[in-house]
Amino acid sequence: MRIARIDSRTVLLHEDGIVDVVRASGGRFGPDPMSPFRDWPAFTNWAGTITQVDEPLGDHILQNPIPHPTQVFGIGANYHDHVAEAGAKTPEAPLVFTKFPTCLTGPFDPIPIPVRTVDWEVELVVVIGVRAEHVRSGDAWHHVAGLTVGQDISDRALQFEGQAPQFSMGKSYPGFGPLGPCMVTPDEVADPDNLELGCALDGEVMQRARTGDLIFGIAELIERLSAVCPLLPGDLIFTGTPSGVGVFRKPPVFLQPGQQLTSWIEGIGELRNPTTDAARRPE
Ligand code: ZN
Repeated sequence: MRIARIDSRTVLLHEDGIVDVVRASGGRFGPDPMSPFRDWPAFTNWAGTITQVDEPLGDHILQNPIPHPTQVFGIGANYHDHVAEAGAKTPEAPLVFTKFPTCLTGPFDPIPIPVRTVDWEVELVVVIGVRAEHVRSGDAWHHVAGLTVGQDISDRALQFEGQAPQFSMGKSYPGFGPLGPCMVTPDEVADPDNLELGCALDGEVMQRARTGDLIFGIAELIERLSAVCPLLPGDLIFTGTPSGVGVFRKPPVFLQPGQQLTSWIEGIGELRNPTTDAARRPE
């Protein structure tokens, strides 16, 4: 099952078209975009019975599929090759920060660039479907609604500024959290623990890896996070980025206005985000 947002409506994405969730469910689910997550098992049971589409996808533009999560977790230094390029030690526990939810944006929306130290990080993003509190890793996947593609855009200067690193602030400017193009349930992908992901800047591939290289995989992240914070339906976990970010290149490379950042994960889809000058406002 694939869930997306079009014209501020939640839709099911089928191969031959889209289904408006509010209309098809007679208002049982929606119009609040987070409504399907209030009873995820009921939603998936209902959605599994829907075969008739409303219309083709056509020129509709997909929006952020998960616009209002309560909590957004980010995990740093969670790929072996990324730890190596950073010259860091393999962490013994996940390095956790938050992306404040106002940074989230859609799969084709612009990323405003406020400073000249902004970097890319393609990531697999986990969407929680069922509240998880003190969940063991063996039971963790039962708490997952789906997977989506994310970009953990990061201002490296702010991230490492001050007496304690400011990861959460440096990763939370408006537009620093593109998500999408849709949320895919885990049964739709071949192996949800080993998906190819990558990103390209103006067509040049910058990152390419597999989620099988994660230091702390999805089930272990859910166990460790839920031991402290209950994970709520609709919450997001940005699971970390592989090697190939800009800051560790020699010389470093940072995003500038007027570029195109493309990010993809096998079996889920592709984000295409133009970068813009944050100082420039639409007319
Ligand atoms: Zn990240």
